[in-house]
Amino acid sequence: MTAALERRAFHEFVAAHHRFLLTTHLNPDGDGLGSELAVAQWLRGMGKTARALNDSLVPAAYLFLTREETFEAFEPALAERRFSECDAVIVLDTSNRQRVGRLAPFLDRFPLPIAVVDHHVSHAGFGKVNVIEPEASSTGEIVYDLIRESGAAITPGMAEALYVALMTDTGSFRYSNTDSHAHRMAADLLSHGLDPQKIHAQVHSHASAGRLRFFGEVLSKLELLEDGRLVVMEASPEQFQVHGLNGSDTEGLVDMPRSIAGVDVVALFSEVEPGKVKVSLRSTGRIAIDQVCARLGGGGHPHAAGVLLRGTRAEARARVLPDLAQRLAAPASDPGSDGPPGAARPARVPAERSTQETA
Ligand code: 5GP
Ligand code: MN
Repeated sequence: MTAALERRAFHEFVAAHHRFLLTTHLNPDGDGLGSELAVAQWLRGMGKTARALNDSLVPAAYLFLTREETFEAFEPALAERRFSECDAVIVLDTSNRQRVGRLAPFLDRFPLPIAVVDHHVSHAGFGKVNVIEPEASSTGEIVYDLIRESGAAITPGMAEALYVALMTDTGSFRYSNTDSHAHRMAADLLSHGLDPQKIHAQVHSHASAGRLRFFGEVLSKLELLEDGRLVVMEASPEQFQVHGLNGSDTEGLVDMPRSIAGVDVVALFSEVEPGKVKVSLRSTGRIAIDQVCARLGGGGHPHAAGVLLRGTRAEARARVLPDLAQRLAAPASDPGSDGPPGAARPARVPAERSTQETA
């Protein structure tokens, strides 16, 4: 189905149901939470009910969003109740059903219609309706288009949440997914009275001293492989424990070595708990790395991808690094195919035209 038809199907899905349960991926980020908030307020504005229930708690960086919206965290009895109460589910910013964590068995058990709104490239399309637009910078960008297409007004709360989604997924407007559509959206959202400096500070001023020491330790041991084109870093369960950190505390760490001259790929192997290794990959733009993770059951975007592997860090390295070395040795991928999205991304259709055109 074309993007325009999927969007139409989404609007029909919304019109046909009344009590919505919204969810996003494990360890929710600004895009997942911001999108949930905006969709929830939009649905309530249409006289529907909407609740957000996620596998995990809201991280400290996004607690300010809870002034406008309640994000419930998984508990079996609560999930049972929320799934019984709703008549439809909307899954945001999530590329496969396992990524909703402990809610996944409920999606299997309750025969509820599901709509998915997402921008990941490797996608399972597990909904009845799947608005999957990999050329969008963020799920929030698609949500923004959908809300505007519906003719609904963007409230200040929605504007703040969508700005958070856009700002965080574009790395504060510096990644290759930042384009004129993203900047136009930002300009429009700011016209609702947002303070961009304050929002940025709210999201990015939550590090503990322990977290910075942990970053320092991991960075001080980074390895430069493949003639300096590949950076590899490891974090051990002991390091997480000593500094009192959890998996979401690594956010931003894998991005730092991108600044080393000549680096094409950064790989971080975080063993948060013994035997569970979270692999995070980043590309500086020359090669696409999402397939490295997709092949192992994970996914992401051409320049930012991840996968959770069972086993030791050494085993995880053995599954990931030879594939990366091979891709680094190959000639640069064609920007017209699945290459760097900065060059390859098709222009997005402005919201007001998108229902008439195929994007
Ligand atoms: P991060 O390395 O920041 O955790 O994730 C980078 C990107 O890869 C994000 O877009 C995230 O959604 C995706 N990603 C990370 N881990 C996984 C995973 O285990 N499975 C899938 N499908 N995607 C992942
Ligand atoms: Mn996202």
